[in-house]
Amino acid sequence: MDYQQILNKIYDEIKPLIGKGKVPDYIPALGNVSADHFAMAVSTVNGEEFTIGDADKNFSIQSVSKVFTLTIAMDLVGDKLWKRVGREPSGSSFNSLVQLEYENGIPRNPFINPGAIVVSDAIFEGRGKTKNRLLKFVREVSGNAAISFDEEVAESERKFGNRNRAMANLMKSFNNLNETADDVLDIYFHQCSIGMTTLDLARSVLFLANSGIDPKTGNKILSSRMTKKMNSLMLTCGLYDAVGDFAYRVGLPGKSGVGGGIAAIVPDELTVAVWSPALNKHGNSYAGTKALELFTTYADNSIF
Ligand code: GLN
Repeated sequence: MDYQQILNKIYDEIKPLIGKGKVPDYIPALGNVSADHFAMAVSTVNGEEFTIGDADKNFSIQSVSKVFTLTIAMDLVGDKLWKRVGREPSGSSFNSLVQLEYENGIPRNPFINPGAIVVSDAIFEGRGKTKNRLLKFVREVSGNAAISFDEEVAESERKFGNRNRAMANLMKSFNNLNETADDVLDIYFHQCSIGMTTLDLARSVLFLANSGIDPKTGNKILSSRMTKKMNSLMLTCGLYDAVGDFAYRVGLPGKSGVGGGIAAIVPDELTVAVWSPALNKHGNSYAGTKALELFTTYADNSIF
């Protein structure tokens, strides 16, 4: 398959859509990013890589990081995690408080904000230790030792993170957090602030296309059983309340973030990452979603 030719074709078609949507400004540090960026990267289990656009420019991965913390939690805590967080699509926005109250502080799934906050609590071993573990993990799966937190973004999230703080406190009141809201949110805000390139992102999730083994190194990152589960969760919950539309249009497990990144998995074949900062009303990259739709159409490689 000539993926470079496919990426070139997508880029030509997507150009009029780049910048359509809105760059989020509820985290002020993200609002400063230009809407005009677009990047796409493919990483295959056979070691081939293809890119187009600004694929070597760092961006804030935001909620895509929830895949990394959940991977650590699946390994560290295992199935016990599911007592504290569900596995159903929420049908609500990623930062909705209403459902959390109705459902006694048990978030619907690990990819909405409260679910990810519970996951951060489950892997908590101290602020410094947990953040180090996370960075070590991300550096290993990306193969890029320079990946780090963006302290400016993390601070901006902390300062303006009142909704996330409300969710954490609500869950604490239902005894679904072990640590203090501040400690857990420190992990959560930092994980969201991780900066990497679109190519780094495609590389970082490659283990999910290869039964949990990173084909770049041969390292086992996750068991094959848990990898199946992670892909299922991404398919059913990875794009919030637009997950049905994404499954319909793209047909792949994926995870988005409000930084405009989306990572998607073609099991046993490849990963494809996109980045374009302007978002649709569900908080997913507008041009990025369209680009992935074109990708599975031209490459004829959705999971269905
Ligand atoms: N840091 C963002 C928040 O907490 C992450 C949300 C997202 O990427 N969907 O609101």
